[in-house]
Amino acid sequence: MSKQILCLPGDGIGPEIMAEALKVLDAAKLRFGLDIEVSHGLVGGAAIDQYGVPLSDETLTLARNSDGILFGAVGGPKWDDQPMANRPEKGLLQLRSALDLFANLRPAMLFPQLADASSLKPELVAGLDILIVRELTGGIYFGDPRGVRTLENGEREGYNTYVYRESEIRRIAKVAFEAARKRGRRLCSVDKSNVLEVTGLWREVVIAESASYHDVELSHMYVDNAAMQLVRAPKQFDVMVTGNMFGDILSDCAAMLTGSIGMLPSASLNEKNQGMYEPVHGSAPDIAGQNKANPLAQILSLAMLLRYSLADGSSLADGSALADGSASGENIAAEAIEKAVSDVLDKGYRTRDIASDGCQVVGTAEMGDAVVDCLLNA
Ligand code: NAD
Repeated sequence: MSKQILCLPGDGIGPEIMAEALKVLDAAKLRFGLDIEVSHGLVGGAAIDQYGVPLSDETLTLARNSDGILFGAVGGPKWDDQPMANRPEKGLLQLRSALDLFANLRPAMLFPQLADASSLKPELVAGLDILIVRELTGGIYFGDPRGVRTLENGEREGYNTYVYRESEIRRIAKVAFEAARKRGRRLCSVDKSNVLEVTGLWREVVIAESASYHDVELSHMYVDNAAMQLVRAPKQFDVMVTGNMFGDILSDCAAMLTGSIGMLPSASLNEKNQGMYEPVHGSAPDIAGQNKANPLAQILSLAMLLRYSLADGSSLADGSALADGSASGENIAAEAIEKAVSDVLDKGYRTRDIASDGCQVVGTAEMGDAVVDCLLNA
């Protein structure tokens, strides 16, 4: 039976970079004989314009029935005056919670060809390869009660609730241990257990889970130190696991170590191995429609989708979704796409955001064509 991908380009540069990822998917289907069907839907501002809401019931049904979702980006000035509950970004949040996409995997990997693009010295980042595993559906972003109330003296007070259940911590810890097992076998759990009880429980549960992973070296770090260490000596890390808010901040920080936000894919997975795959950047309205956007994060997100959600025998529960190198056609295609991206950089092609002296600056569509060319003629 065909595997199903739902394609949700969104707004701004989303449709432009998605078009390039779809070219690459077509080339991969041709070269590796993959049986994949693609359906299309609207999300974010584009869905507000069409249906009045950022995620329609029809699109959510398509999402539930797909094996994986390839997502572009949402948002833009056109929708900035929408009420909070109907902003384009709500479409993304609704998808994450409706599909229970609790595990966010964000690799921060520096292609050696781009070492000069980092804000850190090349020797600090050359060969950088970190995976940040962020809990995505719990913690302070979702905790109740929340709001702004007026106190007896008339002053207003804002409040949120930072809450994690043991089961939520255990399942994300398991994903992180499995990921570490397939990589450098080192896991750093990030918390603030010296101040916050909830992260004291986080640390306890992670330590308990480590009993099943004697082959993975577990360490712990307070979040403030982790932020400092990421910019001081980032190569000390292999896999990092943390809660929703700390992961939000640390993964953006790690992203910048790699030089360009236009290079970084991400995956958000649930326990059924369904996933949503998207670049870490936003809809970049400042360059939308100008053939300037870097499509590589979107193309690398497609490679993650093939590997984690489409490859036969993948399962988050036993960690095999995180295994590289299985003989499945989708796994082979994922590797070939990543190699094609590296080959394109070797040939000196760069979009504006990653350009440096002596390279050939190309537009969004030309970059996509170059990846297709390398993929088909490798
Ligand atoms: P952004 O990531 O869209 O852009 C930040 C900067 O990076 C801009 O200068 C942009 O031109 C550049 N940039 C981003 N992606 C690029 C690419 N592929 N190639 C080249 N340059 C790239 O962040 P922002 O400007 O803060 O937000 C713009 C809109 O995107 C807002 O509406 C915001 O809410 C939304 N947003 C959406 C998501 C998402 O859909 N996941 C994430 C972040 C922001």
